Amino acid sequence: SSIAQLLDGKALAQRMQAELAEQVKALQKQHGRAPGLAVLMVGDNPASAAYVRNKERACQTVGIVSFGTHFPAETTQAELEQTIWNLNHDDRVDGILVQLPLPDHLDSVALLNQIHPDKDADGLHPTNLGRLVRGEPGLRSCTPAGVMRLLAEYKIDVSGRQAVVVGRSILVGKPIAMLLLEADATVTIAHSRSPDLSALTCRADILIAAVGRQNLITAEMVKPGSVVVDVGINRVTDGTGKSRLVGDVDFSAVQPIAAYLTPVPGGVGAMTVTMLLHNTVWSYSQKF
Ligand code: NDP
Repeated sequence: SSIAQLLDGKALAQRMQAELAEQVKALQKQHGRAPGLAVLMVGDNPASAAYVRNKERACQTVGIVSFGTHFPAETTQAELEQTIWNLNHDDRVDGILVQLPLPDHLDSVALLNQIHPDKDADGLHPTNLGRLVRGEPGLRSCTPAGVMRLLAEYKIDVSGRQAVVVGRSILVGKPIAMLLLEADATVTIAHSRSPDLSALTCRADILIAAVGRQNLITAEMVKPGSVVVDVGINRVTDGTGKSRLVGDVDFSAVQPIAAYLTPVPGGVGAMTVTMLLHNTVWSYSQKF
């Protein structure tokens, strides 16, 4: 039997970053300034801090100016809203993103709603989610856009295929389902209340797992010859006490069954930051 081809998000992300760097250089020459991204982080969640460092490093790689702002955990909603107002009116800033999750006393939805939709680099503002639903151009959320870009890179046909998305969060599951629908797939969205998950997933030509549960997708749940995209990120500790990242898919069991499969890490996760850079450059270029 054959073995699934890996969808190499890491390699694609590197190629895209090289292209973005060229594009940024040209845009800077043409318009006299580089694109800018502001990342707001509140408190000191170590995982968030690592994500923010990654994003800032990626900005540097492609020549985007990053306006990082790190606030103490006790920062008020009003202070953050004022900061967003300032960034909305700052011509050097093309993208604004709030690193989630925020400390409990803050209302993240209210805050995201303050970001100007044209600077909403994460694509989570209701205006951009509305544009997505309407199939209008707009900023698309990064992880879902990264999944679609990865499928396109491997010339995977989506039109007319059965797509099953497991997970329905506003961050991942729902927007991926909308993008697949926009690409003319027949889309099923499964979630924690879906009985007999495996009856649904077995019919999928394209299966997207976006749950956050190790080994949720087993070999029996996968249609032979299908495309399996693993969005999940789970940190697990092995017998020796070492920790590593795994997805939602039982990788080694599914690899002989699927035609295409994303590794974790090095699959979807590697694409997310690159799509953020892509969105920032897109916002910038919309101004001219
Ligand atoms: P959420 O916890 O917000 O959503 C999880 C979804 O999975 C919910 O819709 C939930 O259903 C559903 N679910 C939970 N248990 C089951 C089950 N047993 N069967 C079917 N569905 C189930 O997570 P996110 O959407 O934010 O993230 C999902 C995963 O993707 C996480 O592992 C996260 O770390 C990862 N992630 C990866 C990114 C990347 O760049 N690769 C970026 C963002 C997230 P219900 O709605 O009914 O509760």
